Amino acid sequence: MLSYWERQSFTGYDHIVVGSGIVGLSVAIELKERFPKARVLVLERGLLPTGATTRNAGFACMGSASELLADLENQEEEVVAGLFLRRKAGLDLLRQRLSDDDLGYRADGGFELLGKEEVGVLDRLDYLNALLRPLLGCDAFLPAHARIGDFGFPKNQVAGLIENTCEGSLDSGKMMHSLLLLAMSRGVELKTGAEVLRFEKGTDSVTVAVQDAFRREALLLKSKTLSICTNAFAAELLPTEDVTPGRGQVLITEPIAGLRIKGIFHYDAGYYYFRELDGRVLIGGGRNLDFEAERTTEFALTTLIQEDLERKLRELILPGQDFKIAMRWAGIMAFGPTKAPIVKAFNGRVFGAFRMGGMGVALGSQAAKELVALIVRST
Ligand SMILES: Cc1cc2nc3c(=O)[nH]c(=O)nc-3n(C[C@H](O)[C@H](O)[C@H](O)COP(=O)(O)OP(=O)(O)OC[C@H]3O[C@@H](n4cnc5c(N)ncnc54)[C@H](O)[C@@H]3O)c2cc1C
Repeated sequence: MLSYWERQSFTGYDHIVVGSGIVGLSVAIELKERFPKARVLVLERGLLPTGATTRNAGFACMGSASELLADLENQEEEVVAGLFLRRKAGLDLLRQRLSDDDLGYRADGGFELLGKEEVGVLDRLDYLNALLRPLLGCDAFLPAHARIGDFGFPKNQVAGLIENTCEGSLDSGKMMHSLLLLAMSRGVELKTGAEVLRFEKGTDSVTVAVQDAFRREALLLKSKTLSICTNAFAAELLPTEDVTPGRGQVLITEPIAGLRIKGIFHYDAGYYYFRELDGRVLIGGGRNLDFEAERTTEFALTTLIQEDLERKLRELILPGQDFKIAMRWAGIMAFGPTKAPIVKAFNGRVFGAFRMGGMGVALGSQAAKELVALIVRST
């Protein structure tokens, strides 16, 4: 049962966005930029965003050399270069939208560690740089062996180091808080604890059913458009879409005196990532140890991966140094048969931007912009 006032003022919108990760908030901000008078509502099922964006590692990255070379084995050069450029454009857009202070953005450098069996990647840097230089105007990858010792990595494990010149790091918590404040300052409305259960497209509008625990019946909202930005959870609302969840597990140490690493680091073809953060080391990855078990939307930790992350700290990143683990957590990514995101108009009213893979921090703002361009075209 609704009151007259509730029905008049709280159930009708111009644009509803589902999901308040980086993509959902960016779509809402972009919609307000294009349609300043429109009522834009974001619906988030968690009290906090509860997917990937507030649980990630904060790498502002576009792809390491070995990841790009692996992609080039089964995709055309222009497809791989095009996705790299979309990530770069997304990061540029994010940094235009929010100041580096608001993002906690730091250009401390991005690096890729190569094991003995991976040093062949160094021979292909000229090829990769030639592919990307026309798009970037500079070389994306530089050999940086001289710095292996500076960071204290054991030379018997790290046979090569590459500097990724386009990358930086940011503070994902600050970024999302700033993005939220920006959205609210533009007049975007947000409801948390509001899980979208289903939707139905009508002729003039979409009806969106939202869980309302207190009223014990779904609240029905109407909107001219609906944008689904729920990443790994997109198939719950769009069952025909090819989205595979991938859990990412992370841990962070207590502050470490005399820490030598600075910047962000990729290891083992991108399956591991670590960085300095507030004088601590944050490390994540290891999905490749058990792909099957990590293909899940369950926010849980496993002994197998957590112990492996600790081993990487002991043997690779902090050999001979004492450290304590401060926190551990997991987030859920979304993957598909290719690394390209899905950005799509399902019909004239229902749209979606999801399946951001492992580089949604950079890609997210660009995917949102592309989605809103589709909405603009359809109106
Ligand atoms: C451990 C980890 C480390 C990562 N590290 C990096 C990194 O360093 N750099 C990088 O670029 N990327 C990284 N990623 C990937 C990156 O975080 C994602 O690509 C990106 O955050 C996806 O953003 P999104 O907005 O699409 O999805 P999400 O942030 O997952 O947002 C989707 C939102 O939708 C909500 N939702 C779902 N279903 C519903 C529903 N039915 N109704 C209402 N709300 C719903 C969820 O609660 C969630 O808040 C990492 C991911 C993980 C998990």
